[in-house]
Amino acid sequence: MNKVGKFMRILGIGQIISGVILGLIFSISSVTTSVYSKPELVFDPLVFVIWVSAGIVGSSMFIAVSEIIYILDDIRDNTAKAEEHQAVMATTAKKKECFSCGKEYDSDRNSCPHCGASPRRTKCKACGTDYDTTRATCPHCGAR
Ligand SMILES: [Zn+2]
Ligand SMILES: [Zn+2]
Repeated sequence: MNKVGKFMRILGIGQIISGVILGLIFSISSVTTSVYSKPELVFDPLVFVIWVSAGIVGSSMFIAVSEIIYILDDIRDNTAKAEEHQAVMATTAKKKECFSCGKEYDSDRNSCPHCGASPRRTKCKACGTDYDTTRATCPHCGAR
């Protein structure tokens, strides 16, 4: 979970709550109708609605920001994963399987570090004879 996103979401919820509270405070006012009667409490629904909607608008901005943060976080995560994957692919691409012993080694090397076989030689899939990779076909059986 992203801390900033979480914080923004909490702020957003806080905005709604404070909108409702402020709406209640400001919409209720005491009105003195006459000098002889007690002051009456009057509830103004319009003032209440304005405060609540202001709270909702404010909160939606915070929640929108938190959503953007989550989305950006997701993208960053995915990019990191993709880069990691590419890095793995790159190292695998540089490796070469030895035709003789079957072990993997760096394709930049001139010989297999395990058995000393040449990287320019390959084993024929058909007959098993090893031959130079510059050749298109096996000199023994003609297979590609
Ligand atoms: Zn080898
Ligand atoms: Zn062959």
